[in-house]
Amino acid sequence: MTLFELLTQGTECLERAESPDAGNDAKLLLLEAFGLDMTHFLLNRMQKMPEDQRVSECVEKYREWIARRAKRVPLQQILGSQEFMGMEFFVNEHVLIPRQDTETLVELVLERECRNERQNEQPDEHECENHGKIQRNIQHKKRVLDLCAGSGCIGISLAVLGGFEYVAEADLSEEALKVTRKNVERLVQGAGTSVECFHGDLFSAIPDGAEPFDILVSNPPYIPTKVIEGLEPEVRDHEPMMALDGTEDGLLFYRRIAKEAGRVLAPGASVYLEIGYDQGEAVSELLREQGFMEIEVHKDLAGNDRVVCGRFVG
Ligand code: GLN
Repeated sequence: MTLFELLTQGTECLERAESPDAGNDAKLLLLEAFGLDMTHFLLNRMQKMPEDQRVSECVEKYREWIARRAKRVPLQQILGSQEFMGMEFFVNEHVLIPRQDTETLVELVLERECRNERQNEQPDEHECENHGKIQRNIQHKKRVLDLCAGSGCIGISLAVLGGFEYVAEADLSEEALKVTRKNVERLVQGAGTSVECFHGDLFSAIPDGAEPFDILVSNPPYIPTKVIEGLEPEVRDHEPMMALDGTEDGLLFYRRIAKEAGRVLAPGASVYLEIGYDQGEAVSELLREQGFMEIEVHKDLAGNDRVVCGRFVG
């Protein structure tokens, strides 16, 4: 048996299951199952493999993975990871797989909240030194809350890349929080940030008496229930429903976030919410009704509305 034969068999199996991107997925699974890089594969794919125990274990693993993929299990759940903001996040069936669209939100926060901080690192020589220091301290102490954290991709990226002093990750799902914690352990160590994970329903996850937060980020479930059944099987059948379902109109979590923000946000806190492509106006309106200011809608790389941001007045 050769690697090429295995690849052909796997590709055909995935094509029969109408799995999109069959050839590419089969190749990635093959490389991973055998622990090979692309160069090795290209150079050796036509060679007969030895019939030893190691090879048969790899073949077995590969066939098992192909069978799962044929059931439309997302590739990331089979391989156990997804890249996001240049980092590898562990994922399983209990968390939403991080999407590239969500990088728009992270980049926006980094640009808006960390640019000032960097400017303050080189205070104008003529500026009162004390003033510069106070500014720097205030900026450095920004506390970030990531609601509906899932894999933790938003909060962890901000902790690592933005250097925020403190990030709280909150999620209603205990199983999801296990994944968040695992990613915190793997990715945040040594970043000089403290990231804590809390279990609970939106803001109530945060213990009473906690210091107020300066930045709220969230990618809450926002797909209207009826829309979910029309989604591709990878999402509909394998990603956690509670990470997707935004109830009948898709807006429940924005409504609640806008109403309950006062529980834990500091007056003047910035809020960044990921939204569906057609929810920009509705979410802006929900925030406006609750007195938020400076509301803006931002687009993702595909040109769709993707993030609503605003300022909590208090
Ligand atoms: N915050 C995670 C993400 O953006 C999970 C979001 C969710 O579960 N709705 O991928």
